Parts: sequence; C-alpha cells; structure tokens
Amino acid sequence: MDNMNVAEPEVEKEKLNFIEEIIEDSIAKGVKQIQTRFPPEPNGYLHIGHAKSICLNFGMAKKYGGKCNLRFDDTNPVKEDTEYVDSIKQDINWLGFMWSEEHYASDYFDQLYLWAEKLIEKGLAYVDDQTQEEIRVGRGTITTPGTNSPYRNRSVEENLKLFREMRDGKFADGEKVLRAKIDMAHPNMLFRDPLMYRIIHTDHHRTGNKWCIYPMYDYAHGQSDSIEHITHSICTLEFDVHRPLYDWFIDKLEIFPSHQYEFARLNINYTVMSKRKLLQLVKQGYVTGWDDPRMPTICGLRRRGYTPESIKMFAEKVGVAKRDNIIDLGLLEWCLREDLNKKAERRMAVLNPVKVIITNYPEGKTELFNAVNNPEDESAGVRQVSFTREIFIESDDFMENPPKKYFRLQPGGEVRLRYSYLIKCDEVIKNEDGSIKELHCSYDPESGSGSSSDGRKVKGVIHWVSATECKQAKVRLFDRLFAVEAPDEAPEGGTFLDNLNPNSLTEKIAYIEPSLYSMPVGTHVQFERVGYFYNEGLDENGAPVYNRTATLKDSWAKKNQ
Ligand code: ATP
Ligand code: MG
Repeated sequence: MDNMNVAEPEVEKEKLNFIEEIIEDSIAKGVKQIQTRFPPEPNGYLHIGHAKSICLNFGMAKKYGGKCNLRFDDTNPVKEDTEYVDSIKQDINWLGFMWSEEHYASDYFDQLYLWAEKLIEKGLAYVDDQTQEEIRVGRGTITTPGTNSPYRNRSVEENLKLFREMRDGKFADGEKVLRAKIDMAHPNMLFRDPLMYRIIHTDHHRTGNKWCIYPMYDYAHGQSDSIEHITHSICTLEFDVHRPLYDWFIDKLEIFPSHQYEFARLNINYTVMSKRKLLQLVKQGYVTGWDDPRMPTICGLRRRGYTPESIKMFAEKVGVAKRDNIIDLGLLEWCLREDLNKKAERRMAVLNPVKVIITNYPEGKTELFNAVNNPEDESAGVRQVSFTREIFIESDDFMENPPKKYFRLQPGGEVRLRYSYLIKCDEVIKNEDGSIKELHCSYDPESGSGSSSDGRKVKGVIHWVSATECKQAKVRLFDRLFAVEAPDEAPEGGTFLDNLNPNSLTEKIAYIEPSLYSMPVGTHVQFERVGYFYNEGLDENGAPVYNRTATLKDSWAKKNQ
C-alpha cells in the first residue's frame, strides 16, 4: 500500500482579518460574550466611512454570537442634535443592522461625574484655573516637557469644592477645567494632565440644562465602554495614541476592563469624508442637502440608488487594514453593478434623442415585441415593447462620418434595434443650421425574430423607444462631486471647495418606455446601455425622476485585472 504520494485534499481555510484574530484570541482566553458598539457623535449624517465601521462592529458581533450596541457619543452639546440621532438610526437600519441596546453617553453623565470625584479623592484629578492658552503653552512640545500648573497642588477638599461649584454653575465657560493629574513631562502629550471636564453653558439635546460641565472624549469614551461591558472597542487608527489614556482611566477607576483596537479609516479618492466638510457643503449650498445623491453620506448613496447589499459588499472587499490607504471610488461602483446586475430589470430609455422614421413601415401600425426583463433572472419574466413607424434612438448611436469599426447606425449602414427589427439608414435630414433633424430608415420585415431575410450578420445593437408611445422622465446624471483625486488637499491659497467639480450634475428629459413611467418609487432599473437608475419619485410636474446610480462602464475591474 503506497499512499504516500496522495495529496491531502485542500481544505480552504478562511483567512481571518486582524480584528477577527484578536477576537478569536480573546475567546480562546475565556471571553464568553463578545460585545461591540458603534459610537457615532450625533453631529452630522453618517457617511460611507461610518458604514465601514458599522459593518465591522455589527458584523463581528454577529459572527461571534455577540452583541453590538448603538451608543451616541453625545458629550458636546454645541454641535449635537436629535435630527442627527434619528437619521443615524434610520441609516443603520437601512443597512440591515439592529443594535442590541441603544445608549447615550449623556445617560452616563451622573456616573462619570461620580467617577471624577473618585479620581479627585485619589489625588488623580484637579481643578485648573488657567486659561485655555496658558494650558496649551504649559503642555510643552513633543521635544520639551510641559510645566506644572500653579493650581496643580490644590488639596482634595478644595478640588472637590471647586468641582462641585463648577457643576453647580458658579463659573463661566472657560473659567475652570478639571484635569487628570498624571505627568507633565510624559512623552505621550495626551498624558500631560489631560482635560476631563470643561464648562459649557449650553443646553444639551437630551439632558437640557441639567449640566453645565461636560466630559471630554477621552474621559467619557472608555468609561462608557466599560459601563456597557464592551469587550472590543473598535475604532479608527488616529485613536491609537489615546489608547494608553483609555486604559489609564479604566485602571485607576478599577472598572470593567474594556479594550480598544484600531483599524485604518476608510478613505476614498475623489471624496471628502469629514462631517465638518460635508456640513460645509450643505450649509453653503454646494449640494442640495445631506441626502444629495452626490454626497458620500448613506442617505445620499441611498437616494443615488445604492443598495445596502452593495455597500456591505464594498465594506467586505475593502477589508480591515492596519494602515491608512485610499480606496478607488470605482470599487464601490463595481459592487453596485455586481448587486444590481442580478436584481435590476432592464428597460429602454433614450437620453439624447434623434428621431428615426421607418419609411417602409405603415403609419398607425403598432407591433409588440417580447423583451426579456432580466437576462440574469428568468423569474423576472418578459414584457412587451411597442414598435412604431417613428422611434427615437440615442444621438451618439448614429454617425454621419464614422471611423472604422463603428458598428452603430451610419448612412447606408444597418443596425439591430434591440428586441426588434434591423434598420438601414437611407437618408439624413438636416435642419437649416446643419444639425440632424431626423433619419429616414427602412426596415427588413423578415428580421423581427433576431434573424434577417438572407442570413446576413449585423454587429451593432442599439436601444430605442417608440416616438409615439414613449413617455418622459426627468433624469439626473451625476459626475464626481470633486474634480481631483485628493480633494482634501486644498490648492495653494484656497480651500477644499476649490476642488469641486462644477459639472457634477446634469438634468435632462429622457424618452422612456411606458413601463418606466409607472414603476414604484424606489425601483432600481437598468436603462440598457446607459446605466443603473433609481426611481426617486415624481418631480413638480408629475413626471418620474430617475437618478443615475452608475454607468455600465467598469473602470475598476479593468484597472485591477
Ligand atoms: P468625521 O471625522 O467624519 O467627523 P468621526 O470619526 O468624528 O467622523 P464619529 O461619529 O465620531 O465620526 O464616528 C463614529 C464611528 O465611526 C467611530 O468609531 C469612528 O472611528 C468611525 N468612523 C468615522 N469615520 C470613519 C471612516 N472614514 N472609516 C472608518 N470608520 C470611521
Ligand atoms: Mg468623532
């Protein structure tokens, strides 16, 4: 028996990303229940970068039988609003995720306050009267140590009294802060007595005027995680320098040991992704709102026609990296095509019409041709399209003086009308200014079922609609919102706004198959040869509006072959 050379069957091992490795390691070390959280600050709408974080946090919890909370990180009353809270919940649900528990960092203000007093009592926090500027200067630089605040050695009693007075509203904004007492010469600048609380006399969207002191991110985040027994606090790379401080507070307070892990934030070319900049685009009217279909926000992508599945596929393909990188916008479009190719029914619509008159076709006659709704999905069935003597074709499907290898319509040339006859162009009728008025063509009556009268082959197939039976729709065609690959890099003396693409939106009237007129709002459909479109409802004149989600041209796959 010689089976030495028999190869082992190849078992395809699932490749884990580094977060999965960390989680599996913790499970091996005895962590029973994986608990993650998605912690948005309700100061803007979610964007595709957040979608990446959502897919990761909810995805990990799901994969390992754990739970994911939604926690609003609402510690800054100045910028936050319930409008944002509602939109964030809607967007997460739309992506297909549901949180186990909904929390607000502001629900922990009482607990955080008590913990601050505990740190004061341990001699680990003090009230500082220095101005913001004095604190900044006192912190030193990366190469020089900081200097101690003259208030650093206040007694526990005095600190407690002052901190309570801060809470009770005795002081104006900026008059005092509470700082952790760590080390003004620490190599990590964040350890040089970081701020824990500042005074802000502003109503909070949830706690109203109950508080006039608000905790800083570093003081609130880890403790909020700890309260919820978060086992894996996953955040973006820029927080790695905060991790030691995250651990420090948890350690000194002797509370549940949550741990933070960082992954690279998602960046996409031709896109800005900071909420501050997106807000600026909205406020200054460069876009029509947070849900403008050119925005990288989740609500913008939804209105554009992106599907939750395509966004999740994108997050999956991007993967979880440890180092920052920039992802090609084409990958997002590729994911959309992958998804919609299977789901979207095909229809015909003409965006830049030229009228064609089939001179040998009887006036007033209408024939119905079967058209397959989706070649990728037999269950989508067939519909019928009406053929008449006058039709519209796309103006760039005709060339009077075409180059070689142009297989569409040309004088004396023949082309197949999708689902219908072969037509030949006999005459080009012009307007006085020389532009094309209409084309006179003749059809081959034997060619209706995909053949031709004498077996001749015709290469070009073009789409069309009946000029007498078609309806009209408004279509919105989008180009990238920014004209340059790295729009965050402002040109000299300018701002990122100078990188906007002035031609990112074109609106026009299209001639559409009648079946497109009455499609339910929210339908994704492919206009054959033109792109994927999303029906977003009716315009002010009662005509349907179709947003082009993406063209059919694949720029990404070609580049990445
Ligand atoms: P922005 O910088 O756009 O304002 P943010 O980080 O301030 O974003 P938060 O509401 O604090 O926004 O983010 C919630 C969560 O989403 C955080 O855990 C954050 O790390 C994550 N997140 C934000 N932007 C991205 C991104 N581009 N890629 C991946 N995760 C992100
Ligand atoms: Mg933030």
